[in-house]
Amino acid sequence: GAALLQADAEVDSVCPYCGVGCQLSYRVKDGRILEATGRDGPANHGRLCVKGRYGYDYVMSEERLRQPLVRRAGVAKDPADIQRLRRGELALSALFRPASWEEALDLAAAGFKRHLQADSPRGKASPLAGFGSAKGSNEEAYLFQKLIRQGFATHNVDHCTRLCHASSVAALLEGLGSGSVSNPVADVQYAEVILLIGANPSANHPVAASFIKNAVQNGATLIVADPRRAPMSRFARHHLAFRPDSDVALLNALLHVIIDEGLSDPAFITARVNGYEALKAAVAECTPERMSEICGIAPATLREVARLYAKSRASMIFWGMGVSQHVHGTDNVRCLIALAMITGQIGRPGTGLHPLRGQNNVQGASDAGLIPMMLPNYQRVNHAEVREQFEALWGMDTSLGSEPGLTVVEIVHAAYEGRIKAMFIEGENPAMSDPDLDHARAGLARLEHLVVQDIFATETALLADVILPASAHPEKWGSYTNTDRLLQLGRPALMPPGEARQDLWIIEQLARRIGLPWQYWQAEDGAGQAPVARVFEEMRQLMAPLAGVSWARLLREEAVVTPAPREDGPGEDVVFIDRFPTPDGRAQLVPARFTPGPEQPDAQFPLILATGRVLEHWHTGAMTRRASALEALSPQPLISMHPEDMAALRLHEGQAVRMSSRFGDVQATLQQSPEVRQGQVFLPFCYWEAAANLLTGSALDPSGKIPGFKVTAVTVQALV
Ligand code: SF4
Repeated sequence: GAALLQADAEVDSVCPYCGVGCQLSYRVKDGRILEATGRDGPANHGRLCVKGRYGYDYVMSEERLRQPLVRRAGVAKDPADIQRLRRGELALSALFRPASWEEALDLAAAGFKRHLQADSPRGKASPLAGFGSAKGSNEEAYLFQKLIRQGFATHNVDHCTRLCHASSVAALLEGLGSGSVSNPVADVQYAEVILLIGANPSANHPVAASFIKNAVQNGATLIVADPRRAPMSRFARHHLAFRPDSDVALLNALLHVIIDEGLSDPAFITARVNGYEALKAAVAECTPERMSEICGIAPATLREVARLYAKSRASMIFWGMGVSQHVHGTDNVRCLIALAMITGQIGRPGTGLHPLRGQNNVQGASDAGLIPMMLPNYQRVNHAEVREQFEALWGMDTSLGSEPGLTVVEIVHAAYEGRIKAMFIEGENPAMSDPDLDHARAGLARLEHLVVQDIFATETALLADVILPASAHPEKWGSYTNTDRLLQLGRPALMPPGEARQDLWIIEQLARRIGLPWQYWQAEDGAGQAPVARVFEEMRQLMAPLAGVSWARLLREEAVVTPAPREDGPGEDVVFIDRFPTPDGRAQLVPARFTPGPEQPDAQFPLILATGRVLEHWHTGAMTRRASALEALSPQPLISMHPEDMAALRLHEGQAVRMSSRFGDVQATLQQSPEVRQGQVFLPFCYWEAAANLLTGSALDPSGKIPGFKVTAVTVQALV
């Protein structure tokens, strides 16, 4: 608060972008951020990447929403408006009119109340749903899921973790009883062998990548497994450019070698692991020779990599979307868990399992309960004693349902089919991030009532009935949990523009209008931290890992590792030291069998598209494409293709092409890229001009309910 009153100030906060969670300082003058510099935080030691250092001016963009907007009477929702508006052929004011906060909130609430009559369906069958956001704070995530559960009477609440690490979390919860990382990124300095699979941290977690490179410079052995020759492979002893979607075959071969050559850790298995014999039987046939035919990696290399990983003093595994975004993403992660478990490479510095989280608060948003099957702290909705605890603290005289809600893609599909009729979306952009976008956008457009709370008129907001202008990351207090489980403090450097309001205030105003007696926000609070602290203190009562972190402690220490069970002790950097948080304290191995996914190339669609991210842009681009330096560096969608594939197709660098799949098509410029594996193409998903998800399919992993963004059969043709 005090900083806001000063004309010239340094404000300490955290980066709003990726899950590394770099601490930074904003230099503020006359209501503008002039500069961002790295601070000596536990996750970054003063380092920042290009996004953190130069990506802040989206906050001051002319495109910020400054007042509530309401769809004009008689203007139908048309997904084609997204392209028209982005191309400048249509003005936002043609679709929406300004409204007062009173009118907009009343309209927003009325659309939800219509479906909250005594005879309205509840639970999974409810026509209501909500998407919260991993870009928001823990407090916002918590309050959002509370609104949907308590106010909308349904567990139909989810967020974009469903599209990134849902399969990782499903496998980790099943196997180890916890979806969190076992060791922080910085632990890589203690690792002797680092296995980096399906991740491109140079683009997506650049400061983490710099720590991995430092470890290699200091003698660690890096193994990169990825169909694409991403920049980290330059530092690797082995780069396993395996066939797309053959992760299970590759990993089962490693498991086979470890067991066959007696490289497992029998003492660890006896003491801490269930299911070893079943795993051993399941991989008995997975010889390197057999698996090599599927994954394309030479048997001798598979053997050497297995030995390196198993024999080292400390081996650490990092993975990203290349592992998780598959229709068998959960199986992929089950294999990684098995690797660590049968070799005992967990519970010590420099070991363990680390799914690199994409968004600044995707760990925290999941912890805080933006998940349809779990209340905060991964407490399952179908456990009566869990529900009773929440019902009591939330002062409810009705019951929380026992049936888990629908997930992201299921909700949008239900909207398409007319089963979901009204949605509240805070800070998420499914009209860019969902698979099979034509279908997803049509589903969102079919909603009777869509309320979007955001800082920009995102592609999703263009399909809304009511748009509520919210505050950007550097305009509010909040806590954020990075990929290392590090809880950190975000502070406000600016006031929100125009009539834009704090997200917590907006959520509470909606809650009050549908009849919840919430009082987090009190008249005298102004732009202060008091409401955030009240929400945080409530969270602590329901989330054991936060028990030792008071809001006052967070203010004092800036960063506290969770779980932090005691106020007077540090949090736990390395977890699973002597037991797993499962009922019997032991890990459960779950074998996986290689099966081909639904998106097989054929004569019509002979190439495999992987979608992903680029260094300069973040996710659907809502923020970074409005950050002038980042947009200048990476202004247009480029399809990357191997030079030999280009030659075979008689295509050339810089050519305009159409890429088509079984679901849709896009047009973009072709770029030659020897890093891309032959037979594969790459397109980032941040560009509305060629929205990559127009091409992807919506088949889901059965456990994680994540789509297979990394494997879509496509064809690329010259535009004539
Ligand atoms: Fe921000 Fe991630 Fe870059 Fe750090 S590495 S500055 S958290 S985007």
